Amino acid sequence: MPVTTNTKVQSGIQDINQEFKEREVQAKAKELDIPYVNLLNVHINSDFARFLSQEDSEKANAILFMKIGKKLKLATSDPDSAEVKALIEDLKSKKYEISVSICSEESVKSGQKIYYKEQYKKHEEIENIIEEKDLGTYVDEIENLSKLEEKIEKSTYDVALNYIQVGGFKTNSSDIHFQPEEKNVHVRFRIDGVLKSVFKISLEIYEGITKEIKQLSNLKLNVTNVPQDGQYSFVVNKRKINVRVSILPSHYGETCVMRLLDSQKTFVKLEDMGFEGESLKNLQEAVNLPHGLILITGPTGSGKTTTMYSMLQAIDTNEKKVITIEDPIEYNLEGITQSQVNPDVEYTFSSGLRAILRQDPDVIMVGEIRDLDTAETAAQASLTGHLVMTTLHTNSAIESISRMVNMGVKSFILAPALDLIIAQRLVRKLCPNCAATKAITETEREHMQLSLDSIQNKGLQAPVIPNELRHPVGCDKCSETGFMGQIALAEVLKFNQELRDLLLEDKPMPEIYEYIDKHLKMVTIHEDGILKVIEGVTTLDEVYRVAA
Ligand SMILES: [Zn+2]
Repeated sequence: MPVTTNTKVQSGIQDINQEFKEREVQAKAKELDIPYVNLLNVHINSDFARFLSQEDSEKANAILFMKIGKKLKLATSDPDSAEVKALIEDLKSKKYEISVSICSEESVKSGQKIYYKEQYKKHEEIENIIEEKDLGTYVDEIENLSKLEEKIEKSTYDVALNYIQVGGFKTNSSDIHFQPEEKNVHVRFRIDGVLKSVFKISLEIYEGITKEIKQLSNLKLNVTNVPQDGQYSFVVNKRKINVRVSILPSHYGETCVMRLLDSQKTFVKLEDMGFEGESLKNLQEAVNLPHGLILITGPTGSGKTTTMYSMLQAIDTNEKKVITIEDPIEYNLEGITQSQVNPDVEYTFSSGLRAILRQDPDVIMVGEIRDLDTAETAAQASLTGHLVMTTLHTNSAIESISRMVNMGVKSFILAPALDLIIAQRLVRKLCPNCAATKAITETEREHMQLSLDSIQNKGLQAPVIPNELRHPVGCDKCSETGFMGQIALAEVLKFNQELRDLLLEDKPMPEIYEYIDKHLKMVTIHEDGILKVIEGVTTLDEVYRVAA
């Protein structure tokens, strides 16, 4: 074919011309005594676009082609130019070590392709992969959190961010908070539900880290006066961690909060979450019900979602079809169809729930009930042969009934639908490595006795108050917090026919409360907490913190 031959000849000529050009550059390299590099047909990591902007690259006819730790290798066709010198100074000021090579203009142009690739990548997720070999180094270096501070100040911004991310992952933190203050930036990790001050970093390094975070999550770099939300992920130890980023303008600059979500997190069994005795039995029975409505309630951060996921995991997904509608999907569960609310296409909790019902599911999980429409659809679905699980933002099991009634759910739908209401809080568990015992005080004893009396009045057996209680100390293993992991304090209200009848007859709420108190033997959240203090699992302070 003539056309093909022609092209071949042409490209052959170009190759020869290029070869001459490359030889010229090689000679110049010898003359200047700097290394020569040919970047034609070399694949350059598009991540380098983060360290050298397209504008700077074009201005200086330079491209980054390699990065090893803090060392950056720069190739330029014009090593003596003022632009290149300015660029080198700028990179050095960001704590990089720079080595310069000379290359042809064509090499620079070829390397600049990464900027065009970046355009395509814009809407994709950028993954920041920490190789296993690197992780070893990071983990070794992060012996304890206080040493991180020093490392971070000496690192390049991308490495600094990796230290912070891996530090967060290693300490099982759910969130990383950056709070700019007058002179520096306060970094805190939320460990087991409580913020822990980790270290302070300079405003300068924080600015670099924020840019790094913004670039990874596709946020606008030059915008600092409006809130921005985004996400990205990093892989550590072969686990993909999704990071949800929230940036907010504040008095001393942008505050940044990163939520770490381990997509491969496995959920502990219900019995390991703190549910015990009658409560545990009720939960285990409920997940096997053919139909019904299960409400899980509590304030933000009370572990509702975790309980719901653990319950879903207890369902045999070979025999049952499970579909969820969530906002957002926090964790991926095997064998379950998960969907995410998307108001842009009008896929809301209520419209989504109707769509899901057409998919013939056995079990439906609705992330949250926020309006009457969703509440009624969920209740109706449970009356037509589906097991529906959902969460509600209330403080107690009893309050959930009145919330549903006040929302306007008709009692003839609600009463037959409701099976179980779980209200919960999370408390930190004492670190088994360092907890110490102290003699109980008179005040502590009095407080605890009140709860035990109440438990006894319900006809339940109450334990004896011990003479010593366990207290937190702090050691290496628990990041000096004295606590390790969390456990749920719960009240579980199981509906019987009498309770349904009272609801159906629209009896006043106080009468319904009285019935529950007198007849249903329900241990309250606070009482459950006191029992767990007696077991030595947590402390009175923790119980008062979440359920006064
Ligand atoms: Zn400890």
